[in-house]
Amino acid sequence: MTIQDIARPGTVRRTPAQSLRGLCGGAVYLPGDPGVDEARTPWNVAVEQHPAAVAYPADAEETAQLVKGAVAAGLRVAPQNTGHNAGPLGRLDDVVLVRTSAMTHVGIDPVRQVARVGGGALWLPVVEAAAAQGFAVLHGSSPDVGVAGYSLGGGIFVYARKLGLQTNASPEWNW
Ligand SMILES: Cc1cc2nc3c(=O)[nH]c(=O)nc-3n(C[C@H](O)[C@H](O)[C@H](O)COP(=O)(O)OP(=O)(O)OC[C@H]3O[C@@H](n4cnc5c(N)ncnc54)[C@H](O)[C@@H]3O)c2cc1C
Repeated sequence: MTIQDIARPGTVRRTPAQSLRGLCGGAVYLPGDPGVDEARTPWNVAVEQHPAAVAYPADAEETAQLVKGAVAAGLRVAPQNTGHNAGPLGRLDDVVLVRTSAMTHVGIDPVRQVARVGGGALWLPVVEAAAAQGFAVLHGSSPDVGVAGYSLGGGIFVYARKLGLQTNASPEWNW
Protein backbone atom coordinates (compact mmCIF):
# COMPACT_ATOMS: atom_id res chain seq x y z
CA MET A 1 0.00 0.00 0.00
CA THR A 2 1.25 3.50 -0.83
CA ILE A 3 0.31 6.78 0.81
CA GLN A 4 -1.97 7.55 -2.18
CA ASP A 5 -4.11 4.53 -1.36
CA ILE A 6 -5.19 5.99 1.97
CA ALA A 7 -8.23 8.26 2.03
CA ARG A 8 -8.32 8.68 5.82
CA PRO A 9 -6.82 6.68 8.65
CA GLY A 10 -8.08 3.12 8.59
CA THR A 11 -9.91 3.51 5.29
CA VAL A 12 -8.56 2.15 2.00
CA ARG A 13 -9.74 4.23 -0.96
CA ARG A 14 -11.78 2.26 -3.49
CA THR A 15 -10.50 2.45 -7.05
CA PRO A 16 -12.94 2.28 -9.99
CA ALA A 17 -11.55 -1.12 -10.97
CA GLN A 18 -12.66 -2.66 -7.68
CA SER A 19 -16.21 -2.78 -9.04
CA LEU A 20 -14.97 -5.44 -11.47
CA ARG A 21 -14.19 -7.95 -8.77
CA GLY A 22 -16.33 -11.05 -9.13
CA LEU A 23 -16.54 -10.77 -12.93
CA CYS A 24 -14.92 -13.42 -15.17
CA GLY A 25 -15.47 -16.06 -12.51
CA GLY A 26 -13.11 -14.14 -10.22
CA ALA A 27 -10.24 -14.03 -12.74
CA VAL A 28 -9.74 -10.29 -12.25
CA TYR A 29 -6.46 -8.98 -10.86
CA LEU A 30 -6.05 -5.52 -9.35
CA PRO A 31 -2.80 -3.82 -8.36
CA GLY A 32 -1.48 -5.46 -5.20
CA ASP A 33 -3.37 -8.73 -5.70
CA PRO A 34 -1.47 -12.03 -5.50
CA GLY A 35 -0.73 -13.12 -9.06
CA VAL A 36 -1.13 -9.66 -10.58
CA ASP A 37 2.51 -9.46 -11.63
CA GLU A 38 2.22 -12.61 -13.69
CA ALA A 39 -1.11 -11.44 -15.12
CA ARG A 40 0.14 -8.00 -16.18
CA THR A 41 3.41 -9.22 -17.74
CA PRO A 42 3.33 -9.57 -21.54
CA TRP A 43 5.35 -11.99 -23.68
CA ASN A 44 7.59 -9.02 -24.47
CA VAL A 45 8.97 -8.57 -20.97
CA ALA A 46 10.79 -5.40 -22.07
CA VAL A 47 7.40 -3.67 -21.78
CA GLU A 48 6.24 -2.79 -18.24
CA GLN A 49 2.45 -2.82 -18.02
CA HIS A 50 0.58 -1.26 -15.11
CA PRO A 51 -3.11 -1.50 -16.00
CA ALA A 52 -6.00 -0.59 -13.68
CA ALA A 53 -6.95 -4.28 -13.80
CA VAL A 54 -6.22 -7.46 -15.71
CA ALA A 55 -9.07 -9.85 -16.50
CA TYR A 56 -9.33 -13.26 -18.13
CA PRO A 57 -12.81 -13.77 -19.58
CA ALA A 58 -13.61 -17.40 -20.44
CA ASP A 59 -16.03 -16.66 -23.28
CA ALA A 60 -17.86 -13.96 -25.22
CA GLU A 61 -20.49 -13.51 -22.52
CA GLU A 62 -17.91 -12.85 -19.81
CA THR A 63 -16.09 -10.49 -22.19
CA ALA A 64 -19.30 -8.52 -22.76
CA GLN A 65 -19.98 -8.28 -19.02
CA LEU A 66 -16.42 -7.15 -18.41
CA VAL A 67 -16.56 -4.43 -21.07
CA LYS A 68 -19.88 -3.16 -19.69
CA GLY A 69 -18.44 -3.14 -16.18
CA ALA A 70 -15.32 -1.27 -17.31
CA VAL A 71 -17.36 1.37 -19.12
CA ALA A 72 -19.63 1.81 -16.08
CA ALA A 73 -16.51 2.32 -13.94
CA GLY A 74 -15.15 4.96 -16.34
CA LEU A 75 -12.33 2.72 -17.53
CA ARG A 76 -11.16 1.88 -21.02
CA VAL A 77 -10.40 -1.62 -22.28
CA ALA A 78 -7.54 -3.08 -24.33
CA PRO A 79 -7.49 -6.66 -25.64
CA GLN A 80 -4.27 -8.56 -25.27
CA ASN A 81 -3.54 -12.18 -26.02
CA THR A 82 0.15 -13.00 -25.82
CA GLY A 83 1.55 -9.50 -25.51
CA HIS A 84 3.97 -10.08 -28.38
CA ASN A 85 3.14 -6.55 -29.49
CA ALA A 86 2.55 -4.94 -26.10
CA GLY A 87 4.52 -1.74 -26.70
CA PRO A 88 1.97 0.22 -28.76
CA LEU A 89 -0.72 -0.06 -26.06
CA GLY A 90 1.07 2.69 -24.16
CA ARG A 91 0.00 3.84 -20.68
CA LEU A 92 -2.66 1.66 -19.12
CA ASP A 93 -3.48 3.50 -15.88
CA ASP A 94 -7.19 3.76 -16.70
CA VAL A 95 -7.35 0.60 -18.79
CA VAL A 96 -8.65 -2.90 -18.10
CA LEU A 97 -6.35 -5.32 -19.88
CA VAL A 98 -8.60 -8.00 -21.34
CA ARG A 99 -6.40 -11.07 -21.65
CA THR A 100 -8.02 -13.32 -24.25
CA SER A 101 -5.79 -16.33 -23.63
CA ALA A 102 -8.56 -18.51 -22.14
CA MET A 103 -10.60 -18.42 -25.37
CA THR A 104 -8.68 -20.90 -27.50
CA HIS A 105 -11.28 -22.92 -29.40
CA VAL A 106 -10.41 -23.88 -32.97
CA GLY A 107 -12.84 -25.09 -35.62
CA ILE A 108 -12.12 -25.95 -39.25
CA ASP A 109 -14.94 -25.97 -41.79
CA PRO A 110 -13.51 -28.05 -44.66
CA VAL A 111 -16.43 -27.29 -46.98
CA ARG A 112 -16.22 -23.50 -46.72
CA GLN A 113 -12.44 -23.70 -46.13
CA VAL A 114 -12.74 -21.42 -43.13
CA ALA A 115 -11.03 -21.58 -39.75
CA ARG A 116 -13.12 -20.16 -36.89
CA VAL A 117 -11.05 -19.59 -33.76
CA GLY A 118 -11.36 -18.01 -30.35
CA GLY A 119 -9.93 -14.58 -29.63
CA GLY A 120 -7.04 -16.17 -27.73
CA ALA A 121 -6.12 -18.93 -30.16
CA LEU A 122 -2.46 -19.26 -31.07
CA TRP A 123 -1.27 -20.28 -34.50
CA LEU A 124 0.15 -23.73 -33.74
CA PRO A 125 -3.16 -25.46 -32.87
CA VAL A 126 -4.78 -23.83 -35.91
CA VAL A 127 -2.01 -25.05 -38.19
CA GLU A 128 -2.37 -28.56 -36.75
CA ALA A 129 -6.17 -28.64 -36.99
CA ALA A 130 -6.11 -27.36 -40.57
CA ALA A 131 -3.32 -29.78 -41.60
CA ALA A 132 -5.30 -32.71 -40.18
CA GLN A 133 -7.94 -31.92 -42.82
CA GLY A 134 -5.45 -31.33 -45.62
CA PHE A 135 -5.33 -27.51 -45.44
CA ALA A 136 -2.73 -24.87 -44.74
CA VAL A 137 -3.39 -21.51 -43.06
CA LEU A 138 -1.57 -18.20 -43.53
CA HIS A 139 0.35 -18.35 -40.25
CA GLY A 140 3.53 -16.49 -39.37
CA SER A 141 6.99 -17.59 -38.31
CA SER A 142 6.16 -18.19 -34.64
CA PRO A 143 3.77 -20.89 -33.34
CA ASP A 144 2.90 -18.88 -30.23
CA VAL A 145 1.76 -15.65 -31.88
CA GLY A 146 -1.99 -15.01 -31.56
CA VAL A 147 -4.20 -15.44 -34.62
CA ALA A 148 -6.26 -12.31 -33.88
CA GLY A 149 -3.34 -9.95 -33.31
CA TYR A 150 -1.46 -11.35 -36.29
CA SER A 151 -4.47 -11.07 -38.58
CA LEU A 152 -5.41 -7.55 -37.47
CA GLY A 153 -1.83 -6.37 -37.90
CA GLY A 154 -1.30 -7.65 -41.44
CA GLY A 155 0.46 -10.98 -41.14
CA ILE A 156 3.22 -11.53 -43.63
CA PHE A 157 5.13 -14.79 -44.04
CA VAL A 158 6.53 -17.01 -46.76
CA TYR A 159 3.08 -17.52 -48.33
CA ALA A 160 2.56 -13.80 -48.87
CA ARG A 161 4.03 -13.48 -52.35
CA LYS A 162 1.83 -16.26 -53.73
CA LEU A 163 -1.24 -16.18 -51.46
CA GLY A 164 -1.32 -12.67 -50.00
CA LEU A 165 -1.40 -11.37 -46.45
CA GLN A 166 -3.33 -13.11 -43.67
CA THR A 167 -5.27 -9.88 -43.16
CA ASN A 168 -6.70 -10.30 -46.65
CA ALA A 169 -7.64 -13.97 -46.26
CA SER A 170 -11.25 -14.45 -47.24
CA PRO A 171 -13.36 -17.51 -48.01
CA GLU A 172 -14.62 -15.69 -51.10
CA TRP A 173 -11.10 -15.10 -52.33
CA ASN A 174 -10.38 -17.26 -55.35
CA TRP A 175 -6.78 -18.41 -54.87
C1 LIG B 1 8.71 -14.28 -32.36
C2 LIG B 1 7.80 -13.45 -33.26
C3 LIG B 1 7.60 -13.84 -34.57
C4 LIG B 1 6.78 -13.10 -35.42
N1 LIG B 1 6.63 -13.50 -36.73
C5 LIG B 1 5.86 -12.76 -37.54
C6 LIG B 1 5.71 -13.14 -38.95
O1 LIG B 1 6.25 -14.12 -39.43
N2 LIG B 1 4.94 -12.35 -39.71
C7 LIG B 1 4.29 -11.24 -39.22
O2 LIG B 1 3.58 -10.58 -39.98
N3 LIG B 1 4.41 -10.86 -37.92
C8 LIG B 1 5.20 -11.59 -37.10
N4 LIG B 1 5.34 -11.20 -35.80
C9 LIG B 1 4.63 -9.99 -35.34
C10 LIG B 1 3.27 -10.44 -34.73
O3 LIG B 1 2.46 -10.93 -35.76
C11 LIG B 1 2.60 -9.22 -34.10
O4 LIG B 1 3.37 -8.79 -33.02
C12 LIG B 1 1.17 -9.56 -33.66
O5 LIG B 1 0.49 -8.33 -33.46
C13 LIG B 1 1.15 -10.41 -32.39
O6 LIG B 1 -0.18 -10.76 -32.09
P1 LIG B 1 -0.51 -11.34 -30.63
O7 LIG B 1 -2.01 -11.46 -30.57
O8 LIG B 1 0.31 -12.53 -30.35
O9 LIG B 1 0.02 -10.14 -29.68
P2 LIG B 1 -0.72 -9.13 -28.73
O10 LIG B 1 0.35 -8.19 -28.28
O11 LIG B 1 -1.48 -9.85 -27.69
O12 LIG B 1 -1.75 -8.38 -29.67
C14 LIG B 1 -1.25 -7.57 -30.76
C15 LIG B 1 -2.26 -6.45 -31.06
O13 LIG B 1 -3.51 -7.02 -31.44
C16 LIG B 1 -4.54 -6.60 -30.56
N5 LIG B 1 -5.38 -7.78 -30.30
C17 LIG B 1 -4.97 -9.00 -29.87
N6 LIG B 1 -6.02 -9.83 -29.76
C18 LIG B 1 -7.11 -9.12 -30.13
C19 LIG B 1 -8.51 -9.42 -30.24
N7 LIG B 1 -8.99 -10.64 -29.95
N8 LIG B 1 -9.35 -8.44 -30.65
C20 LIG B 1 -8.88 -7.19 -30.95
N9 LIG B 1 -7.56 -6.85 -30.88
C21 LIG B 1 -6.71 -7.80 -30.48
C22 LIG B 1 -3.85 -6.11 -29.29
O14 LIG B 1 -4.60 -5.10 -28.62
C23 LIG B 1 -2.55 -5.56 -29.85
O15 LIG B 1 -2.72 -4.23 -30.32
C24 LIG B 1 6.14 -11.93 -34.93
C25 LIG B 1 6.32 -11.53 -33.60
C26 LIG B 1 7.15 -12.28 -32.76
C27 LIG B 1 7.35 -11.79 -31.35
